[in-house]
Amino acid sequence: MGVHKEQLTLVIGGGAAGIEAARVLGQAGYPVVLVEKSNRLGGVLNQLASSFPRWEDPAQFVEPRVKDFEKCEKVRILLESTVSGCQKVKNGYQVKIDNKGVAEELQVGAVIIATGFELMDLSGYGEYGHGSFANVFNSLEFEAVLKQWAAGNKPEKPPVVAFFKCVGSRDRSKGYPYCSKICCMYTAKQAGLVKDLFPDGRSYVFYMDYRASGKEYEEFVRSVIEDKHVRYVRGRPAKVLPENGRLLIRCEDTLMGVPVEVRADYIVLAAAIRPSQGTAEMAQMFGLKTDAYGFIEPEPFEAVKVQERVFLAGSCGFAVETLGALQQGAAAAAQAIAVLHQAD
Ligand SMILES: Cc1cc2nc3c(=O)[nH]c(=O)nc-3n(C[C@H](O)[C@H](O)[C@H](O)COP(=O)(O)OP(=O)(O)OC[C@H]3O[C@@H](n4cnc5c(N)ncnc54)[C@H](O)[C@@H]3O)c2cc1C
Ligand code: SF4
Repeated sequence: MGVHKEQLTLVIGGGAAGIEAARVLGQAGYPVVLVEKSNRLGGVLNQLASSFPRWEDPAQFVEPRVKDFEKCEKVRILLESTVSGCQKVKNGYQVKIDNKGVAEELQVGAVIIATGFELMDLSGYGEYGHGSFANVFNSLEFEAVLKQWAAGNKPEKPPVVAFFKCVGSRDRSKGYPYCSKICCMYTAKQAGLVKDLFPDGRSYVFYMDYRASGKEYEEFVRSVIEDKHVRYVRGRPAKVLPENGRLLIRCEDTLMGVPVEVRADYIVLAAAIRPSQGTAEMAQMFGLKTDAYGFIEPEPFEAVKVQERVFLAGSCGFAVETLGALQQGAAAAAQAIAVLHQAD
């Protein structure tokens, strides 16, 4: 038992998934090194104004865990660091770490990849004006706007905000054929937050259909529509036009069979989720199998095992909500512990 507990596990990426993996390993008494390329833990959670489906503050997830790490001697956190090389050796990997510009070598018995996702570049969707009109945001940029508003830096007049879903997802011609899975939910959250912050403002969600298949998800979207009075319009806007300082949206409401015109102050595009650059780099470095879009692939009928002694956690495998990222982080930690105990 003692020998196994001396073997290190390397966690790459300190978002929700990587944090949870490191936490479970540390609590079980296994030494962990977590490398995070930015200057803080939390990943995308740091950018979120609130969290579906329970309107929780994402800081309430990150901050207590960061404090726990400070007290747990088993977990070593390296910020502004990454992995610069790796070599397969008996019972693990010899890895090179770039620790704030200082090179370090470690032998690890297991590796957990938790390098996350990014939103697709929207320059292919010029008709919606992202990058051309100041008030057209992708959904992560809009989380920052919501944070500003929640902090009291609000526009003078209650705004009209229009959300376009499935931008780049489910679009075989210009984007990706897959559904990005979480954008129906975070769009409902963002539209509901606008109404909380500005009861006299208006939120419109333009959608093809909505997918809310998680615990409390359907109820969440229903409450946004019925209690917060967010207006859902079934239809796909063709183009956004500037008009007297606002943004004109024309669309056919395909449920009602009537044309709809909305003059919005802000437009938010729910852009497709794709693997992060770090995910691509680590997949290549460790020789991991990826799918056609670059998401890391587990072995057939495996939850998180990618190859011998390598596991994935979170959105480097596919779009996932925070709870799913935590579940995968915990599963990857459990599998790492199991592999450390395997006979030579
Ligand atoms: C607009 C938006 C709103 C959302 N709202 C919600 C919500 O309300 N509720 C909810 O449940 N979920 C929400 N989500 C989903 C949530 O953000 C994800 O589930 C969660 O952030 C996934 O965590 P992760 O650890 O997989 O990835 P990430 O958060 O992307 O973390 C990956 C980490 O890895 C680091 N990294 C990358 N490459 C390297 C490398 N080579 N070396 C070292 N470190 C590296 C990155 O810097 C980052 O810190 C939302 C997502 C979006 C886009
Ligand atoms: S989750 Fe919803 S908004 Fe996102 S791609 Fe799927 S259907 Fe479209």
